[in-house]
Amino acid sequence: MEFVAAKALAELTSAEIERAVAGKTLIWPIGGIEQHGPHLPLNVDSLIPEALSHRLAAMIDGFYLPVQPFSARSLPQSGGGLLFPGTIYIDGATFTRYLQRTLAGLCRLPFKRLVIINGHYENEAFIFEAIDELNGNGALGDRAVTAFSWWSLVPDAWIAANLPEFPGWHAEHAGITETSLMLYLHPDLVRSERPDHPSPPMAGIYRLPLDRASASTQGVLSRTTGSSATLGKQLFNLVMDQMMTLLEHRQNDE
Ligand SMILES: [Zn+2]
Repeated sequence: MEFVAAKALAELTSAEIERAVAGKTLIWPIGGIEQHGPHLPLNVDSLIPEALSHRLAAMIDGFYLPVQPFSARSLPQSGGGLLFPGTIYIDGATFTRYLQRTLAGLCRLPFKRLVIINGHYENEAFIFEAIDELNGNGALGDRAVTAFSWWSLVPDAWIAANLPEFPGWHAEHAGITETSLMLYLHPDLVRSERPDHPSPPMAGIYRLPLDRASASTQGVLSRTTGSSATLGKQLFNLVMDQMMTLLEHRQNDE
C-alpha cells in the first residue's frame, strides 16, 4: 500500500474542501481531559485516538478531523471521576447533542465514509446514540459509518498473552495499556511514579458511598507494572491492523 502524508481536514480551504473530500473517508478522534494518575497527562484519551487517526488517514488517503478534546463525565469506578483535579466533562445529554450537531454539519460535505475513534471509556454510548439518531433522521444519507473505542479492537488472545491480570477495560485506566501506548507515542509526557492498584473495581457496578482507597491508587485503577514502549508499539500496531481489517470488511459489505 502506498504511504501518503496524513491530511488534516481543517487545513483545507473552503474553495478546496468539497472536491478534496468527495468520495473519501473522514476520521474523527474523540477524547477527553481526565485525570490519569500521577504519571500520565490529562489528555491521554485524546492523544491515543489522535495518533491512530493520523496513521489511518495516511494509510487510506483519508482526512483526519481535529480531536474532540472534552468528554462525557468520568466516573469513579471507570476513570477516577471528579475525585482528582483536572478532569473536565460534558454532561451526557449535552455531549450527545453536540456530537449530533457537529456530525450533521459535517454531513453537508460529500465524503463517503466516517470513522470515529473513541479514546475515553464513558464516551462510547453517547457517540453511538448520536450516530443512531442521525441515521434515524436521514442526515447521514448513504454514508458508511464505523465508530468504536480503540480497545474494542484488541483480541482476547492478545489480552490473555500480554495482560495476565487484566482487570477489564473499564479499569485499564492509567494502567498497563494506556501507560505503554504513551511510552511509545509520547515518552516525554510519562512521569516516573507509576503506582499499582491491588483491587480494581468490578465492571458495571456503581457504589455509594464511595470508598476512595478501594477505587484507585492516586487515580490508577489497576496495574502499571509491566508497562513498556515495546508493549505500546505492539498494541498500537495491533489496533491499526484490526482497524484496517474492520474497514476492509466494511468496504466489502458495501
Ligand atoms: Zn484513559
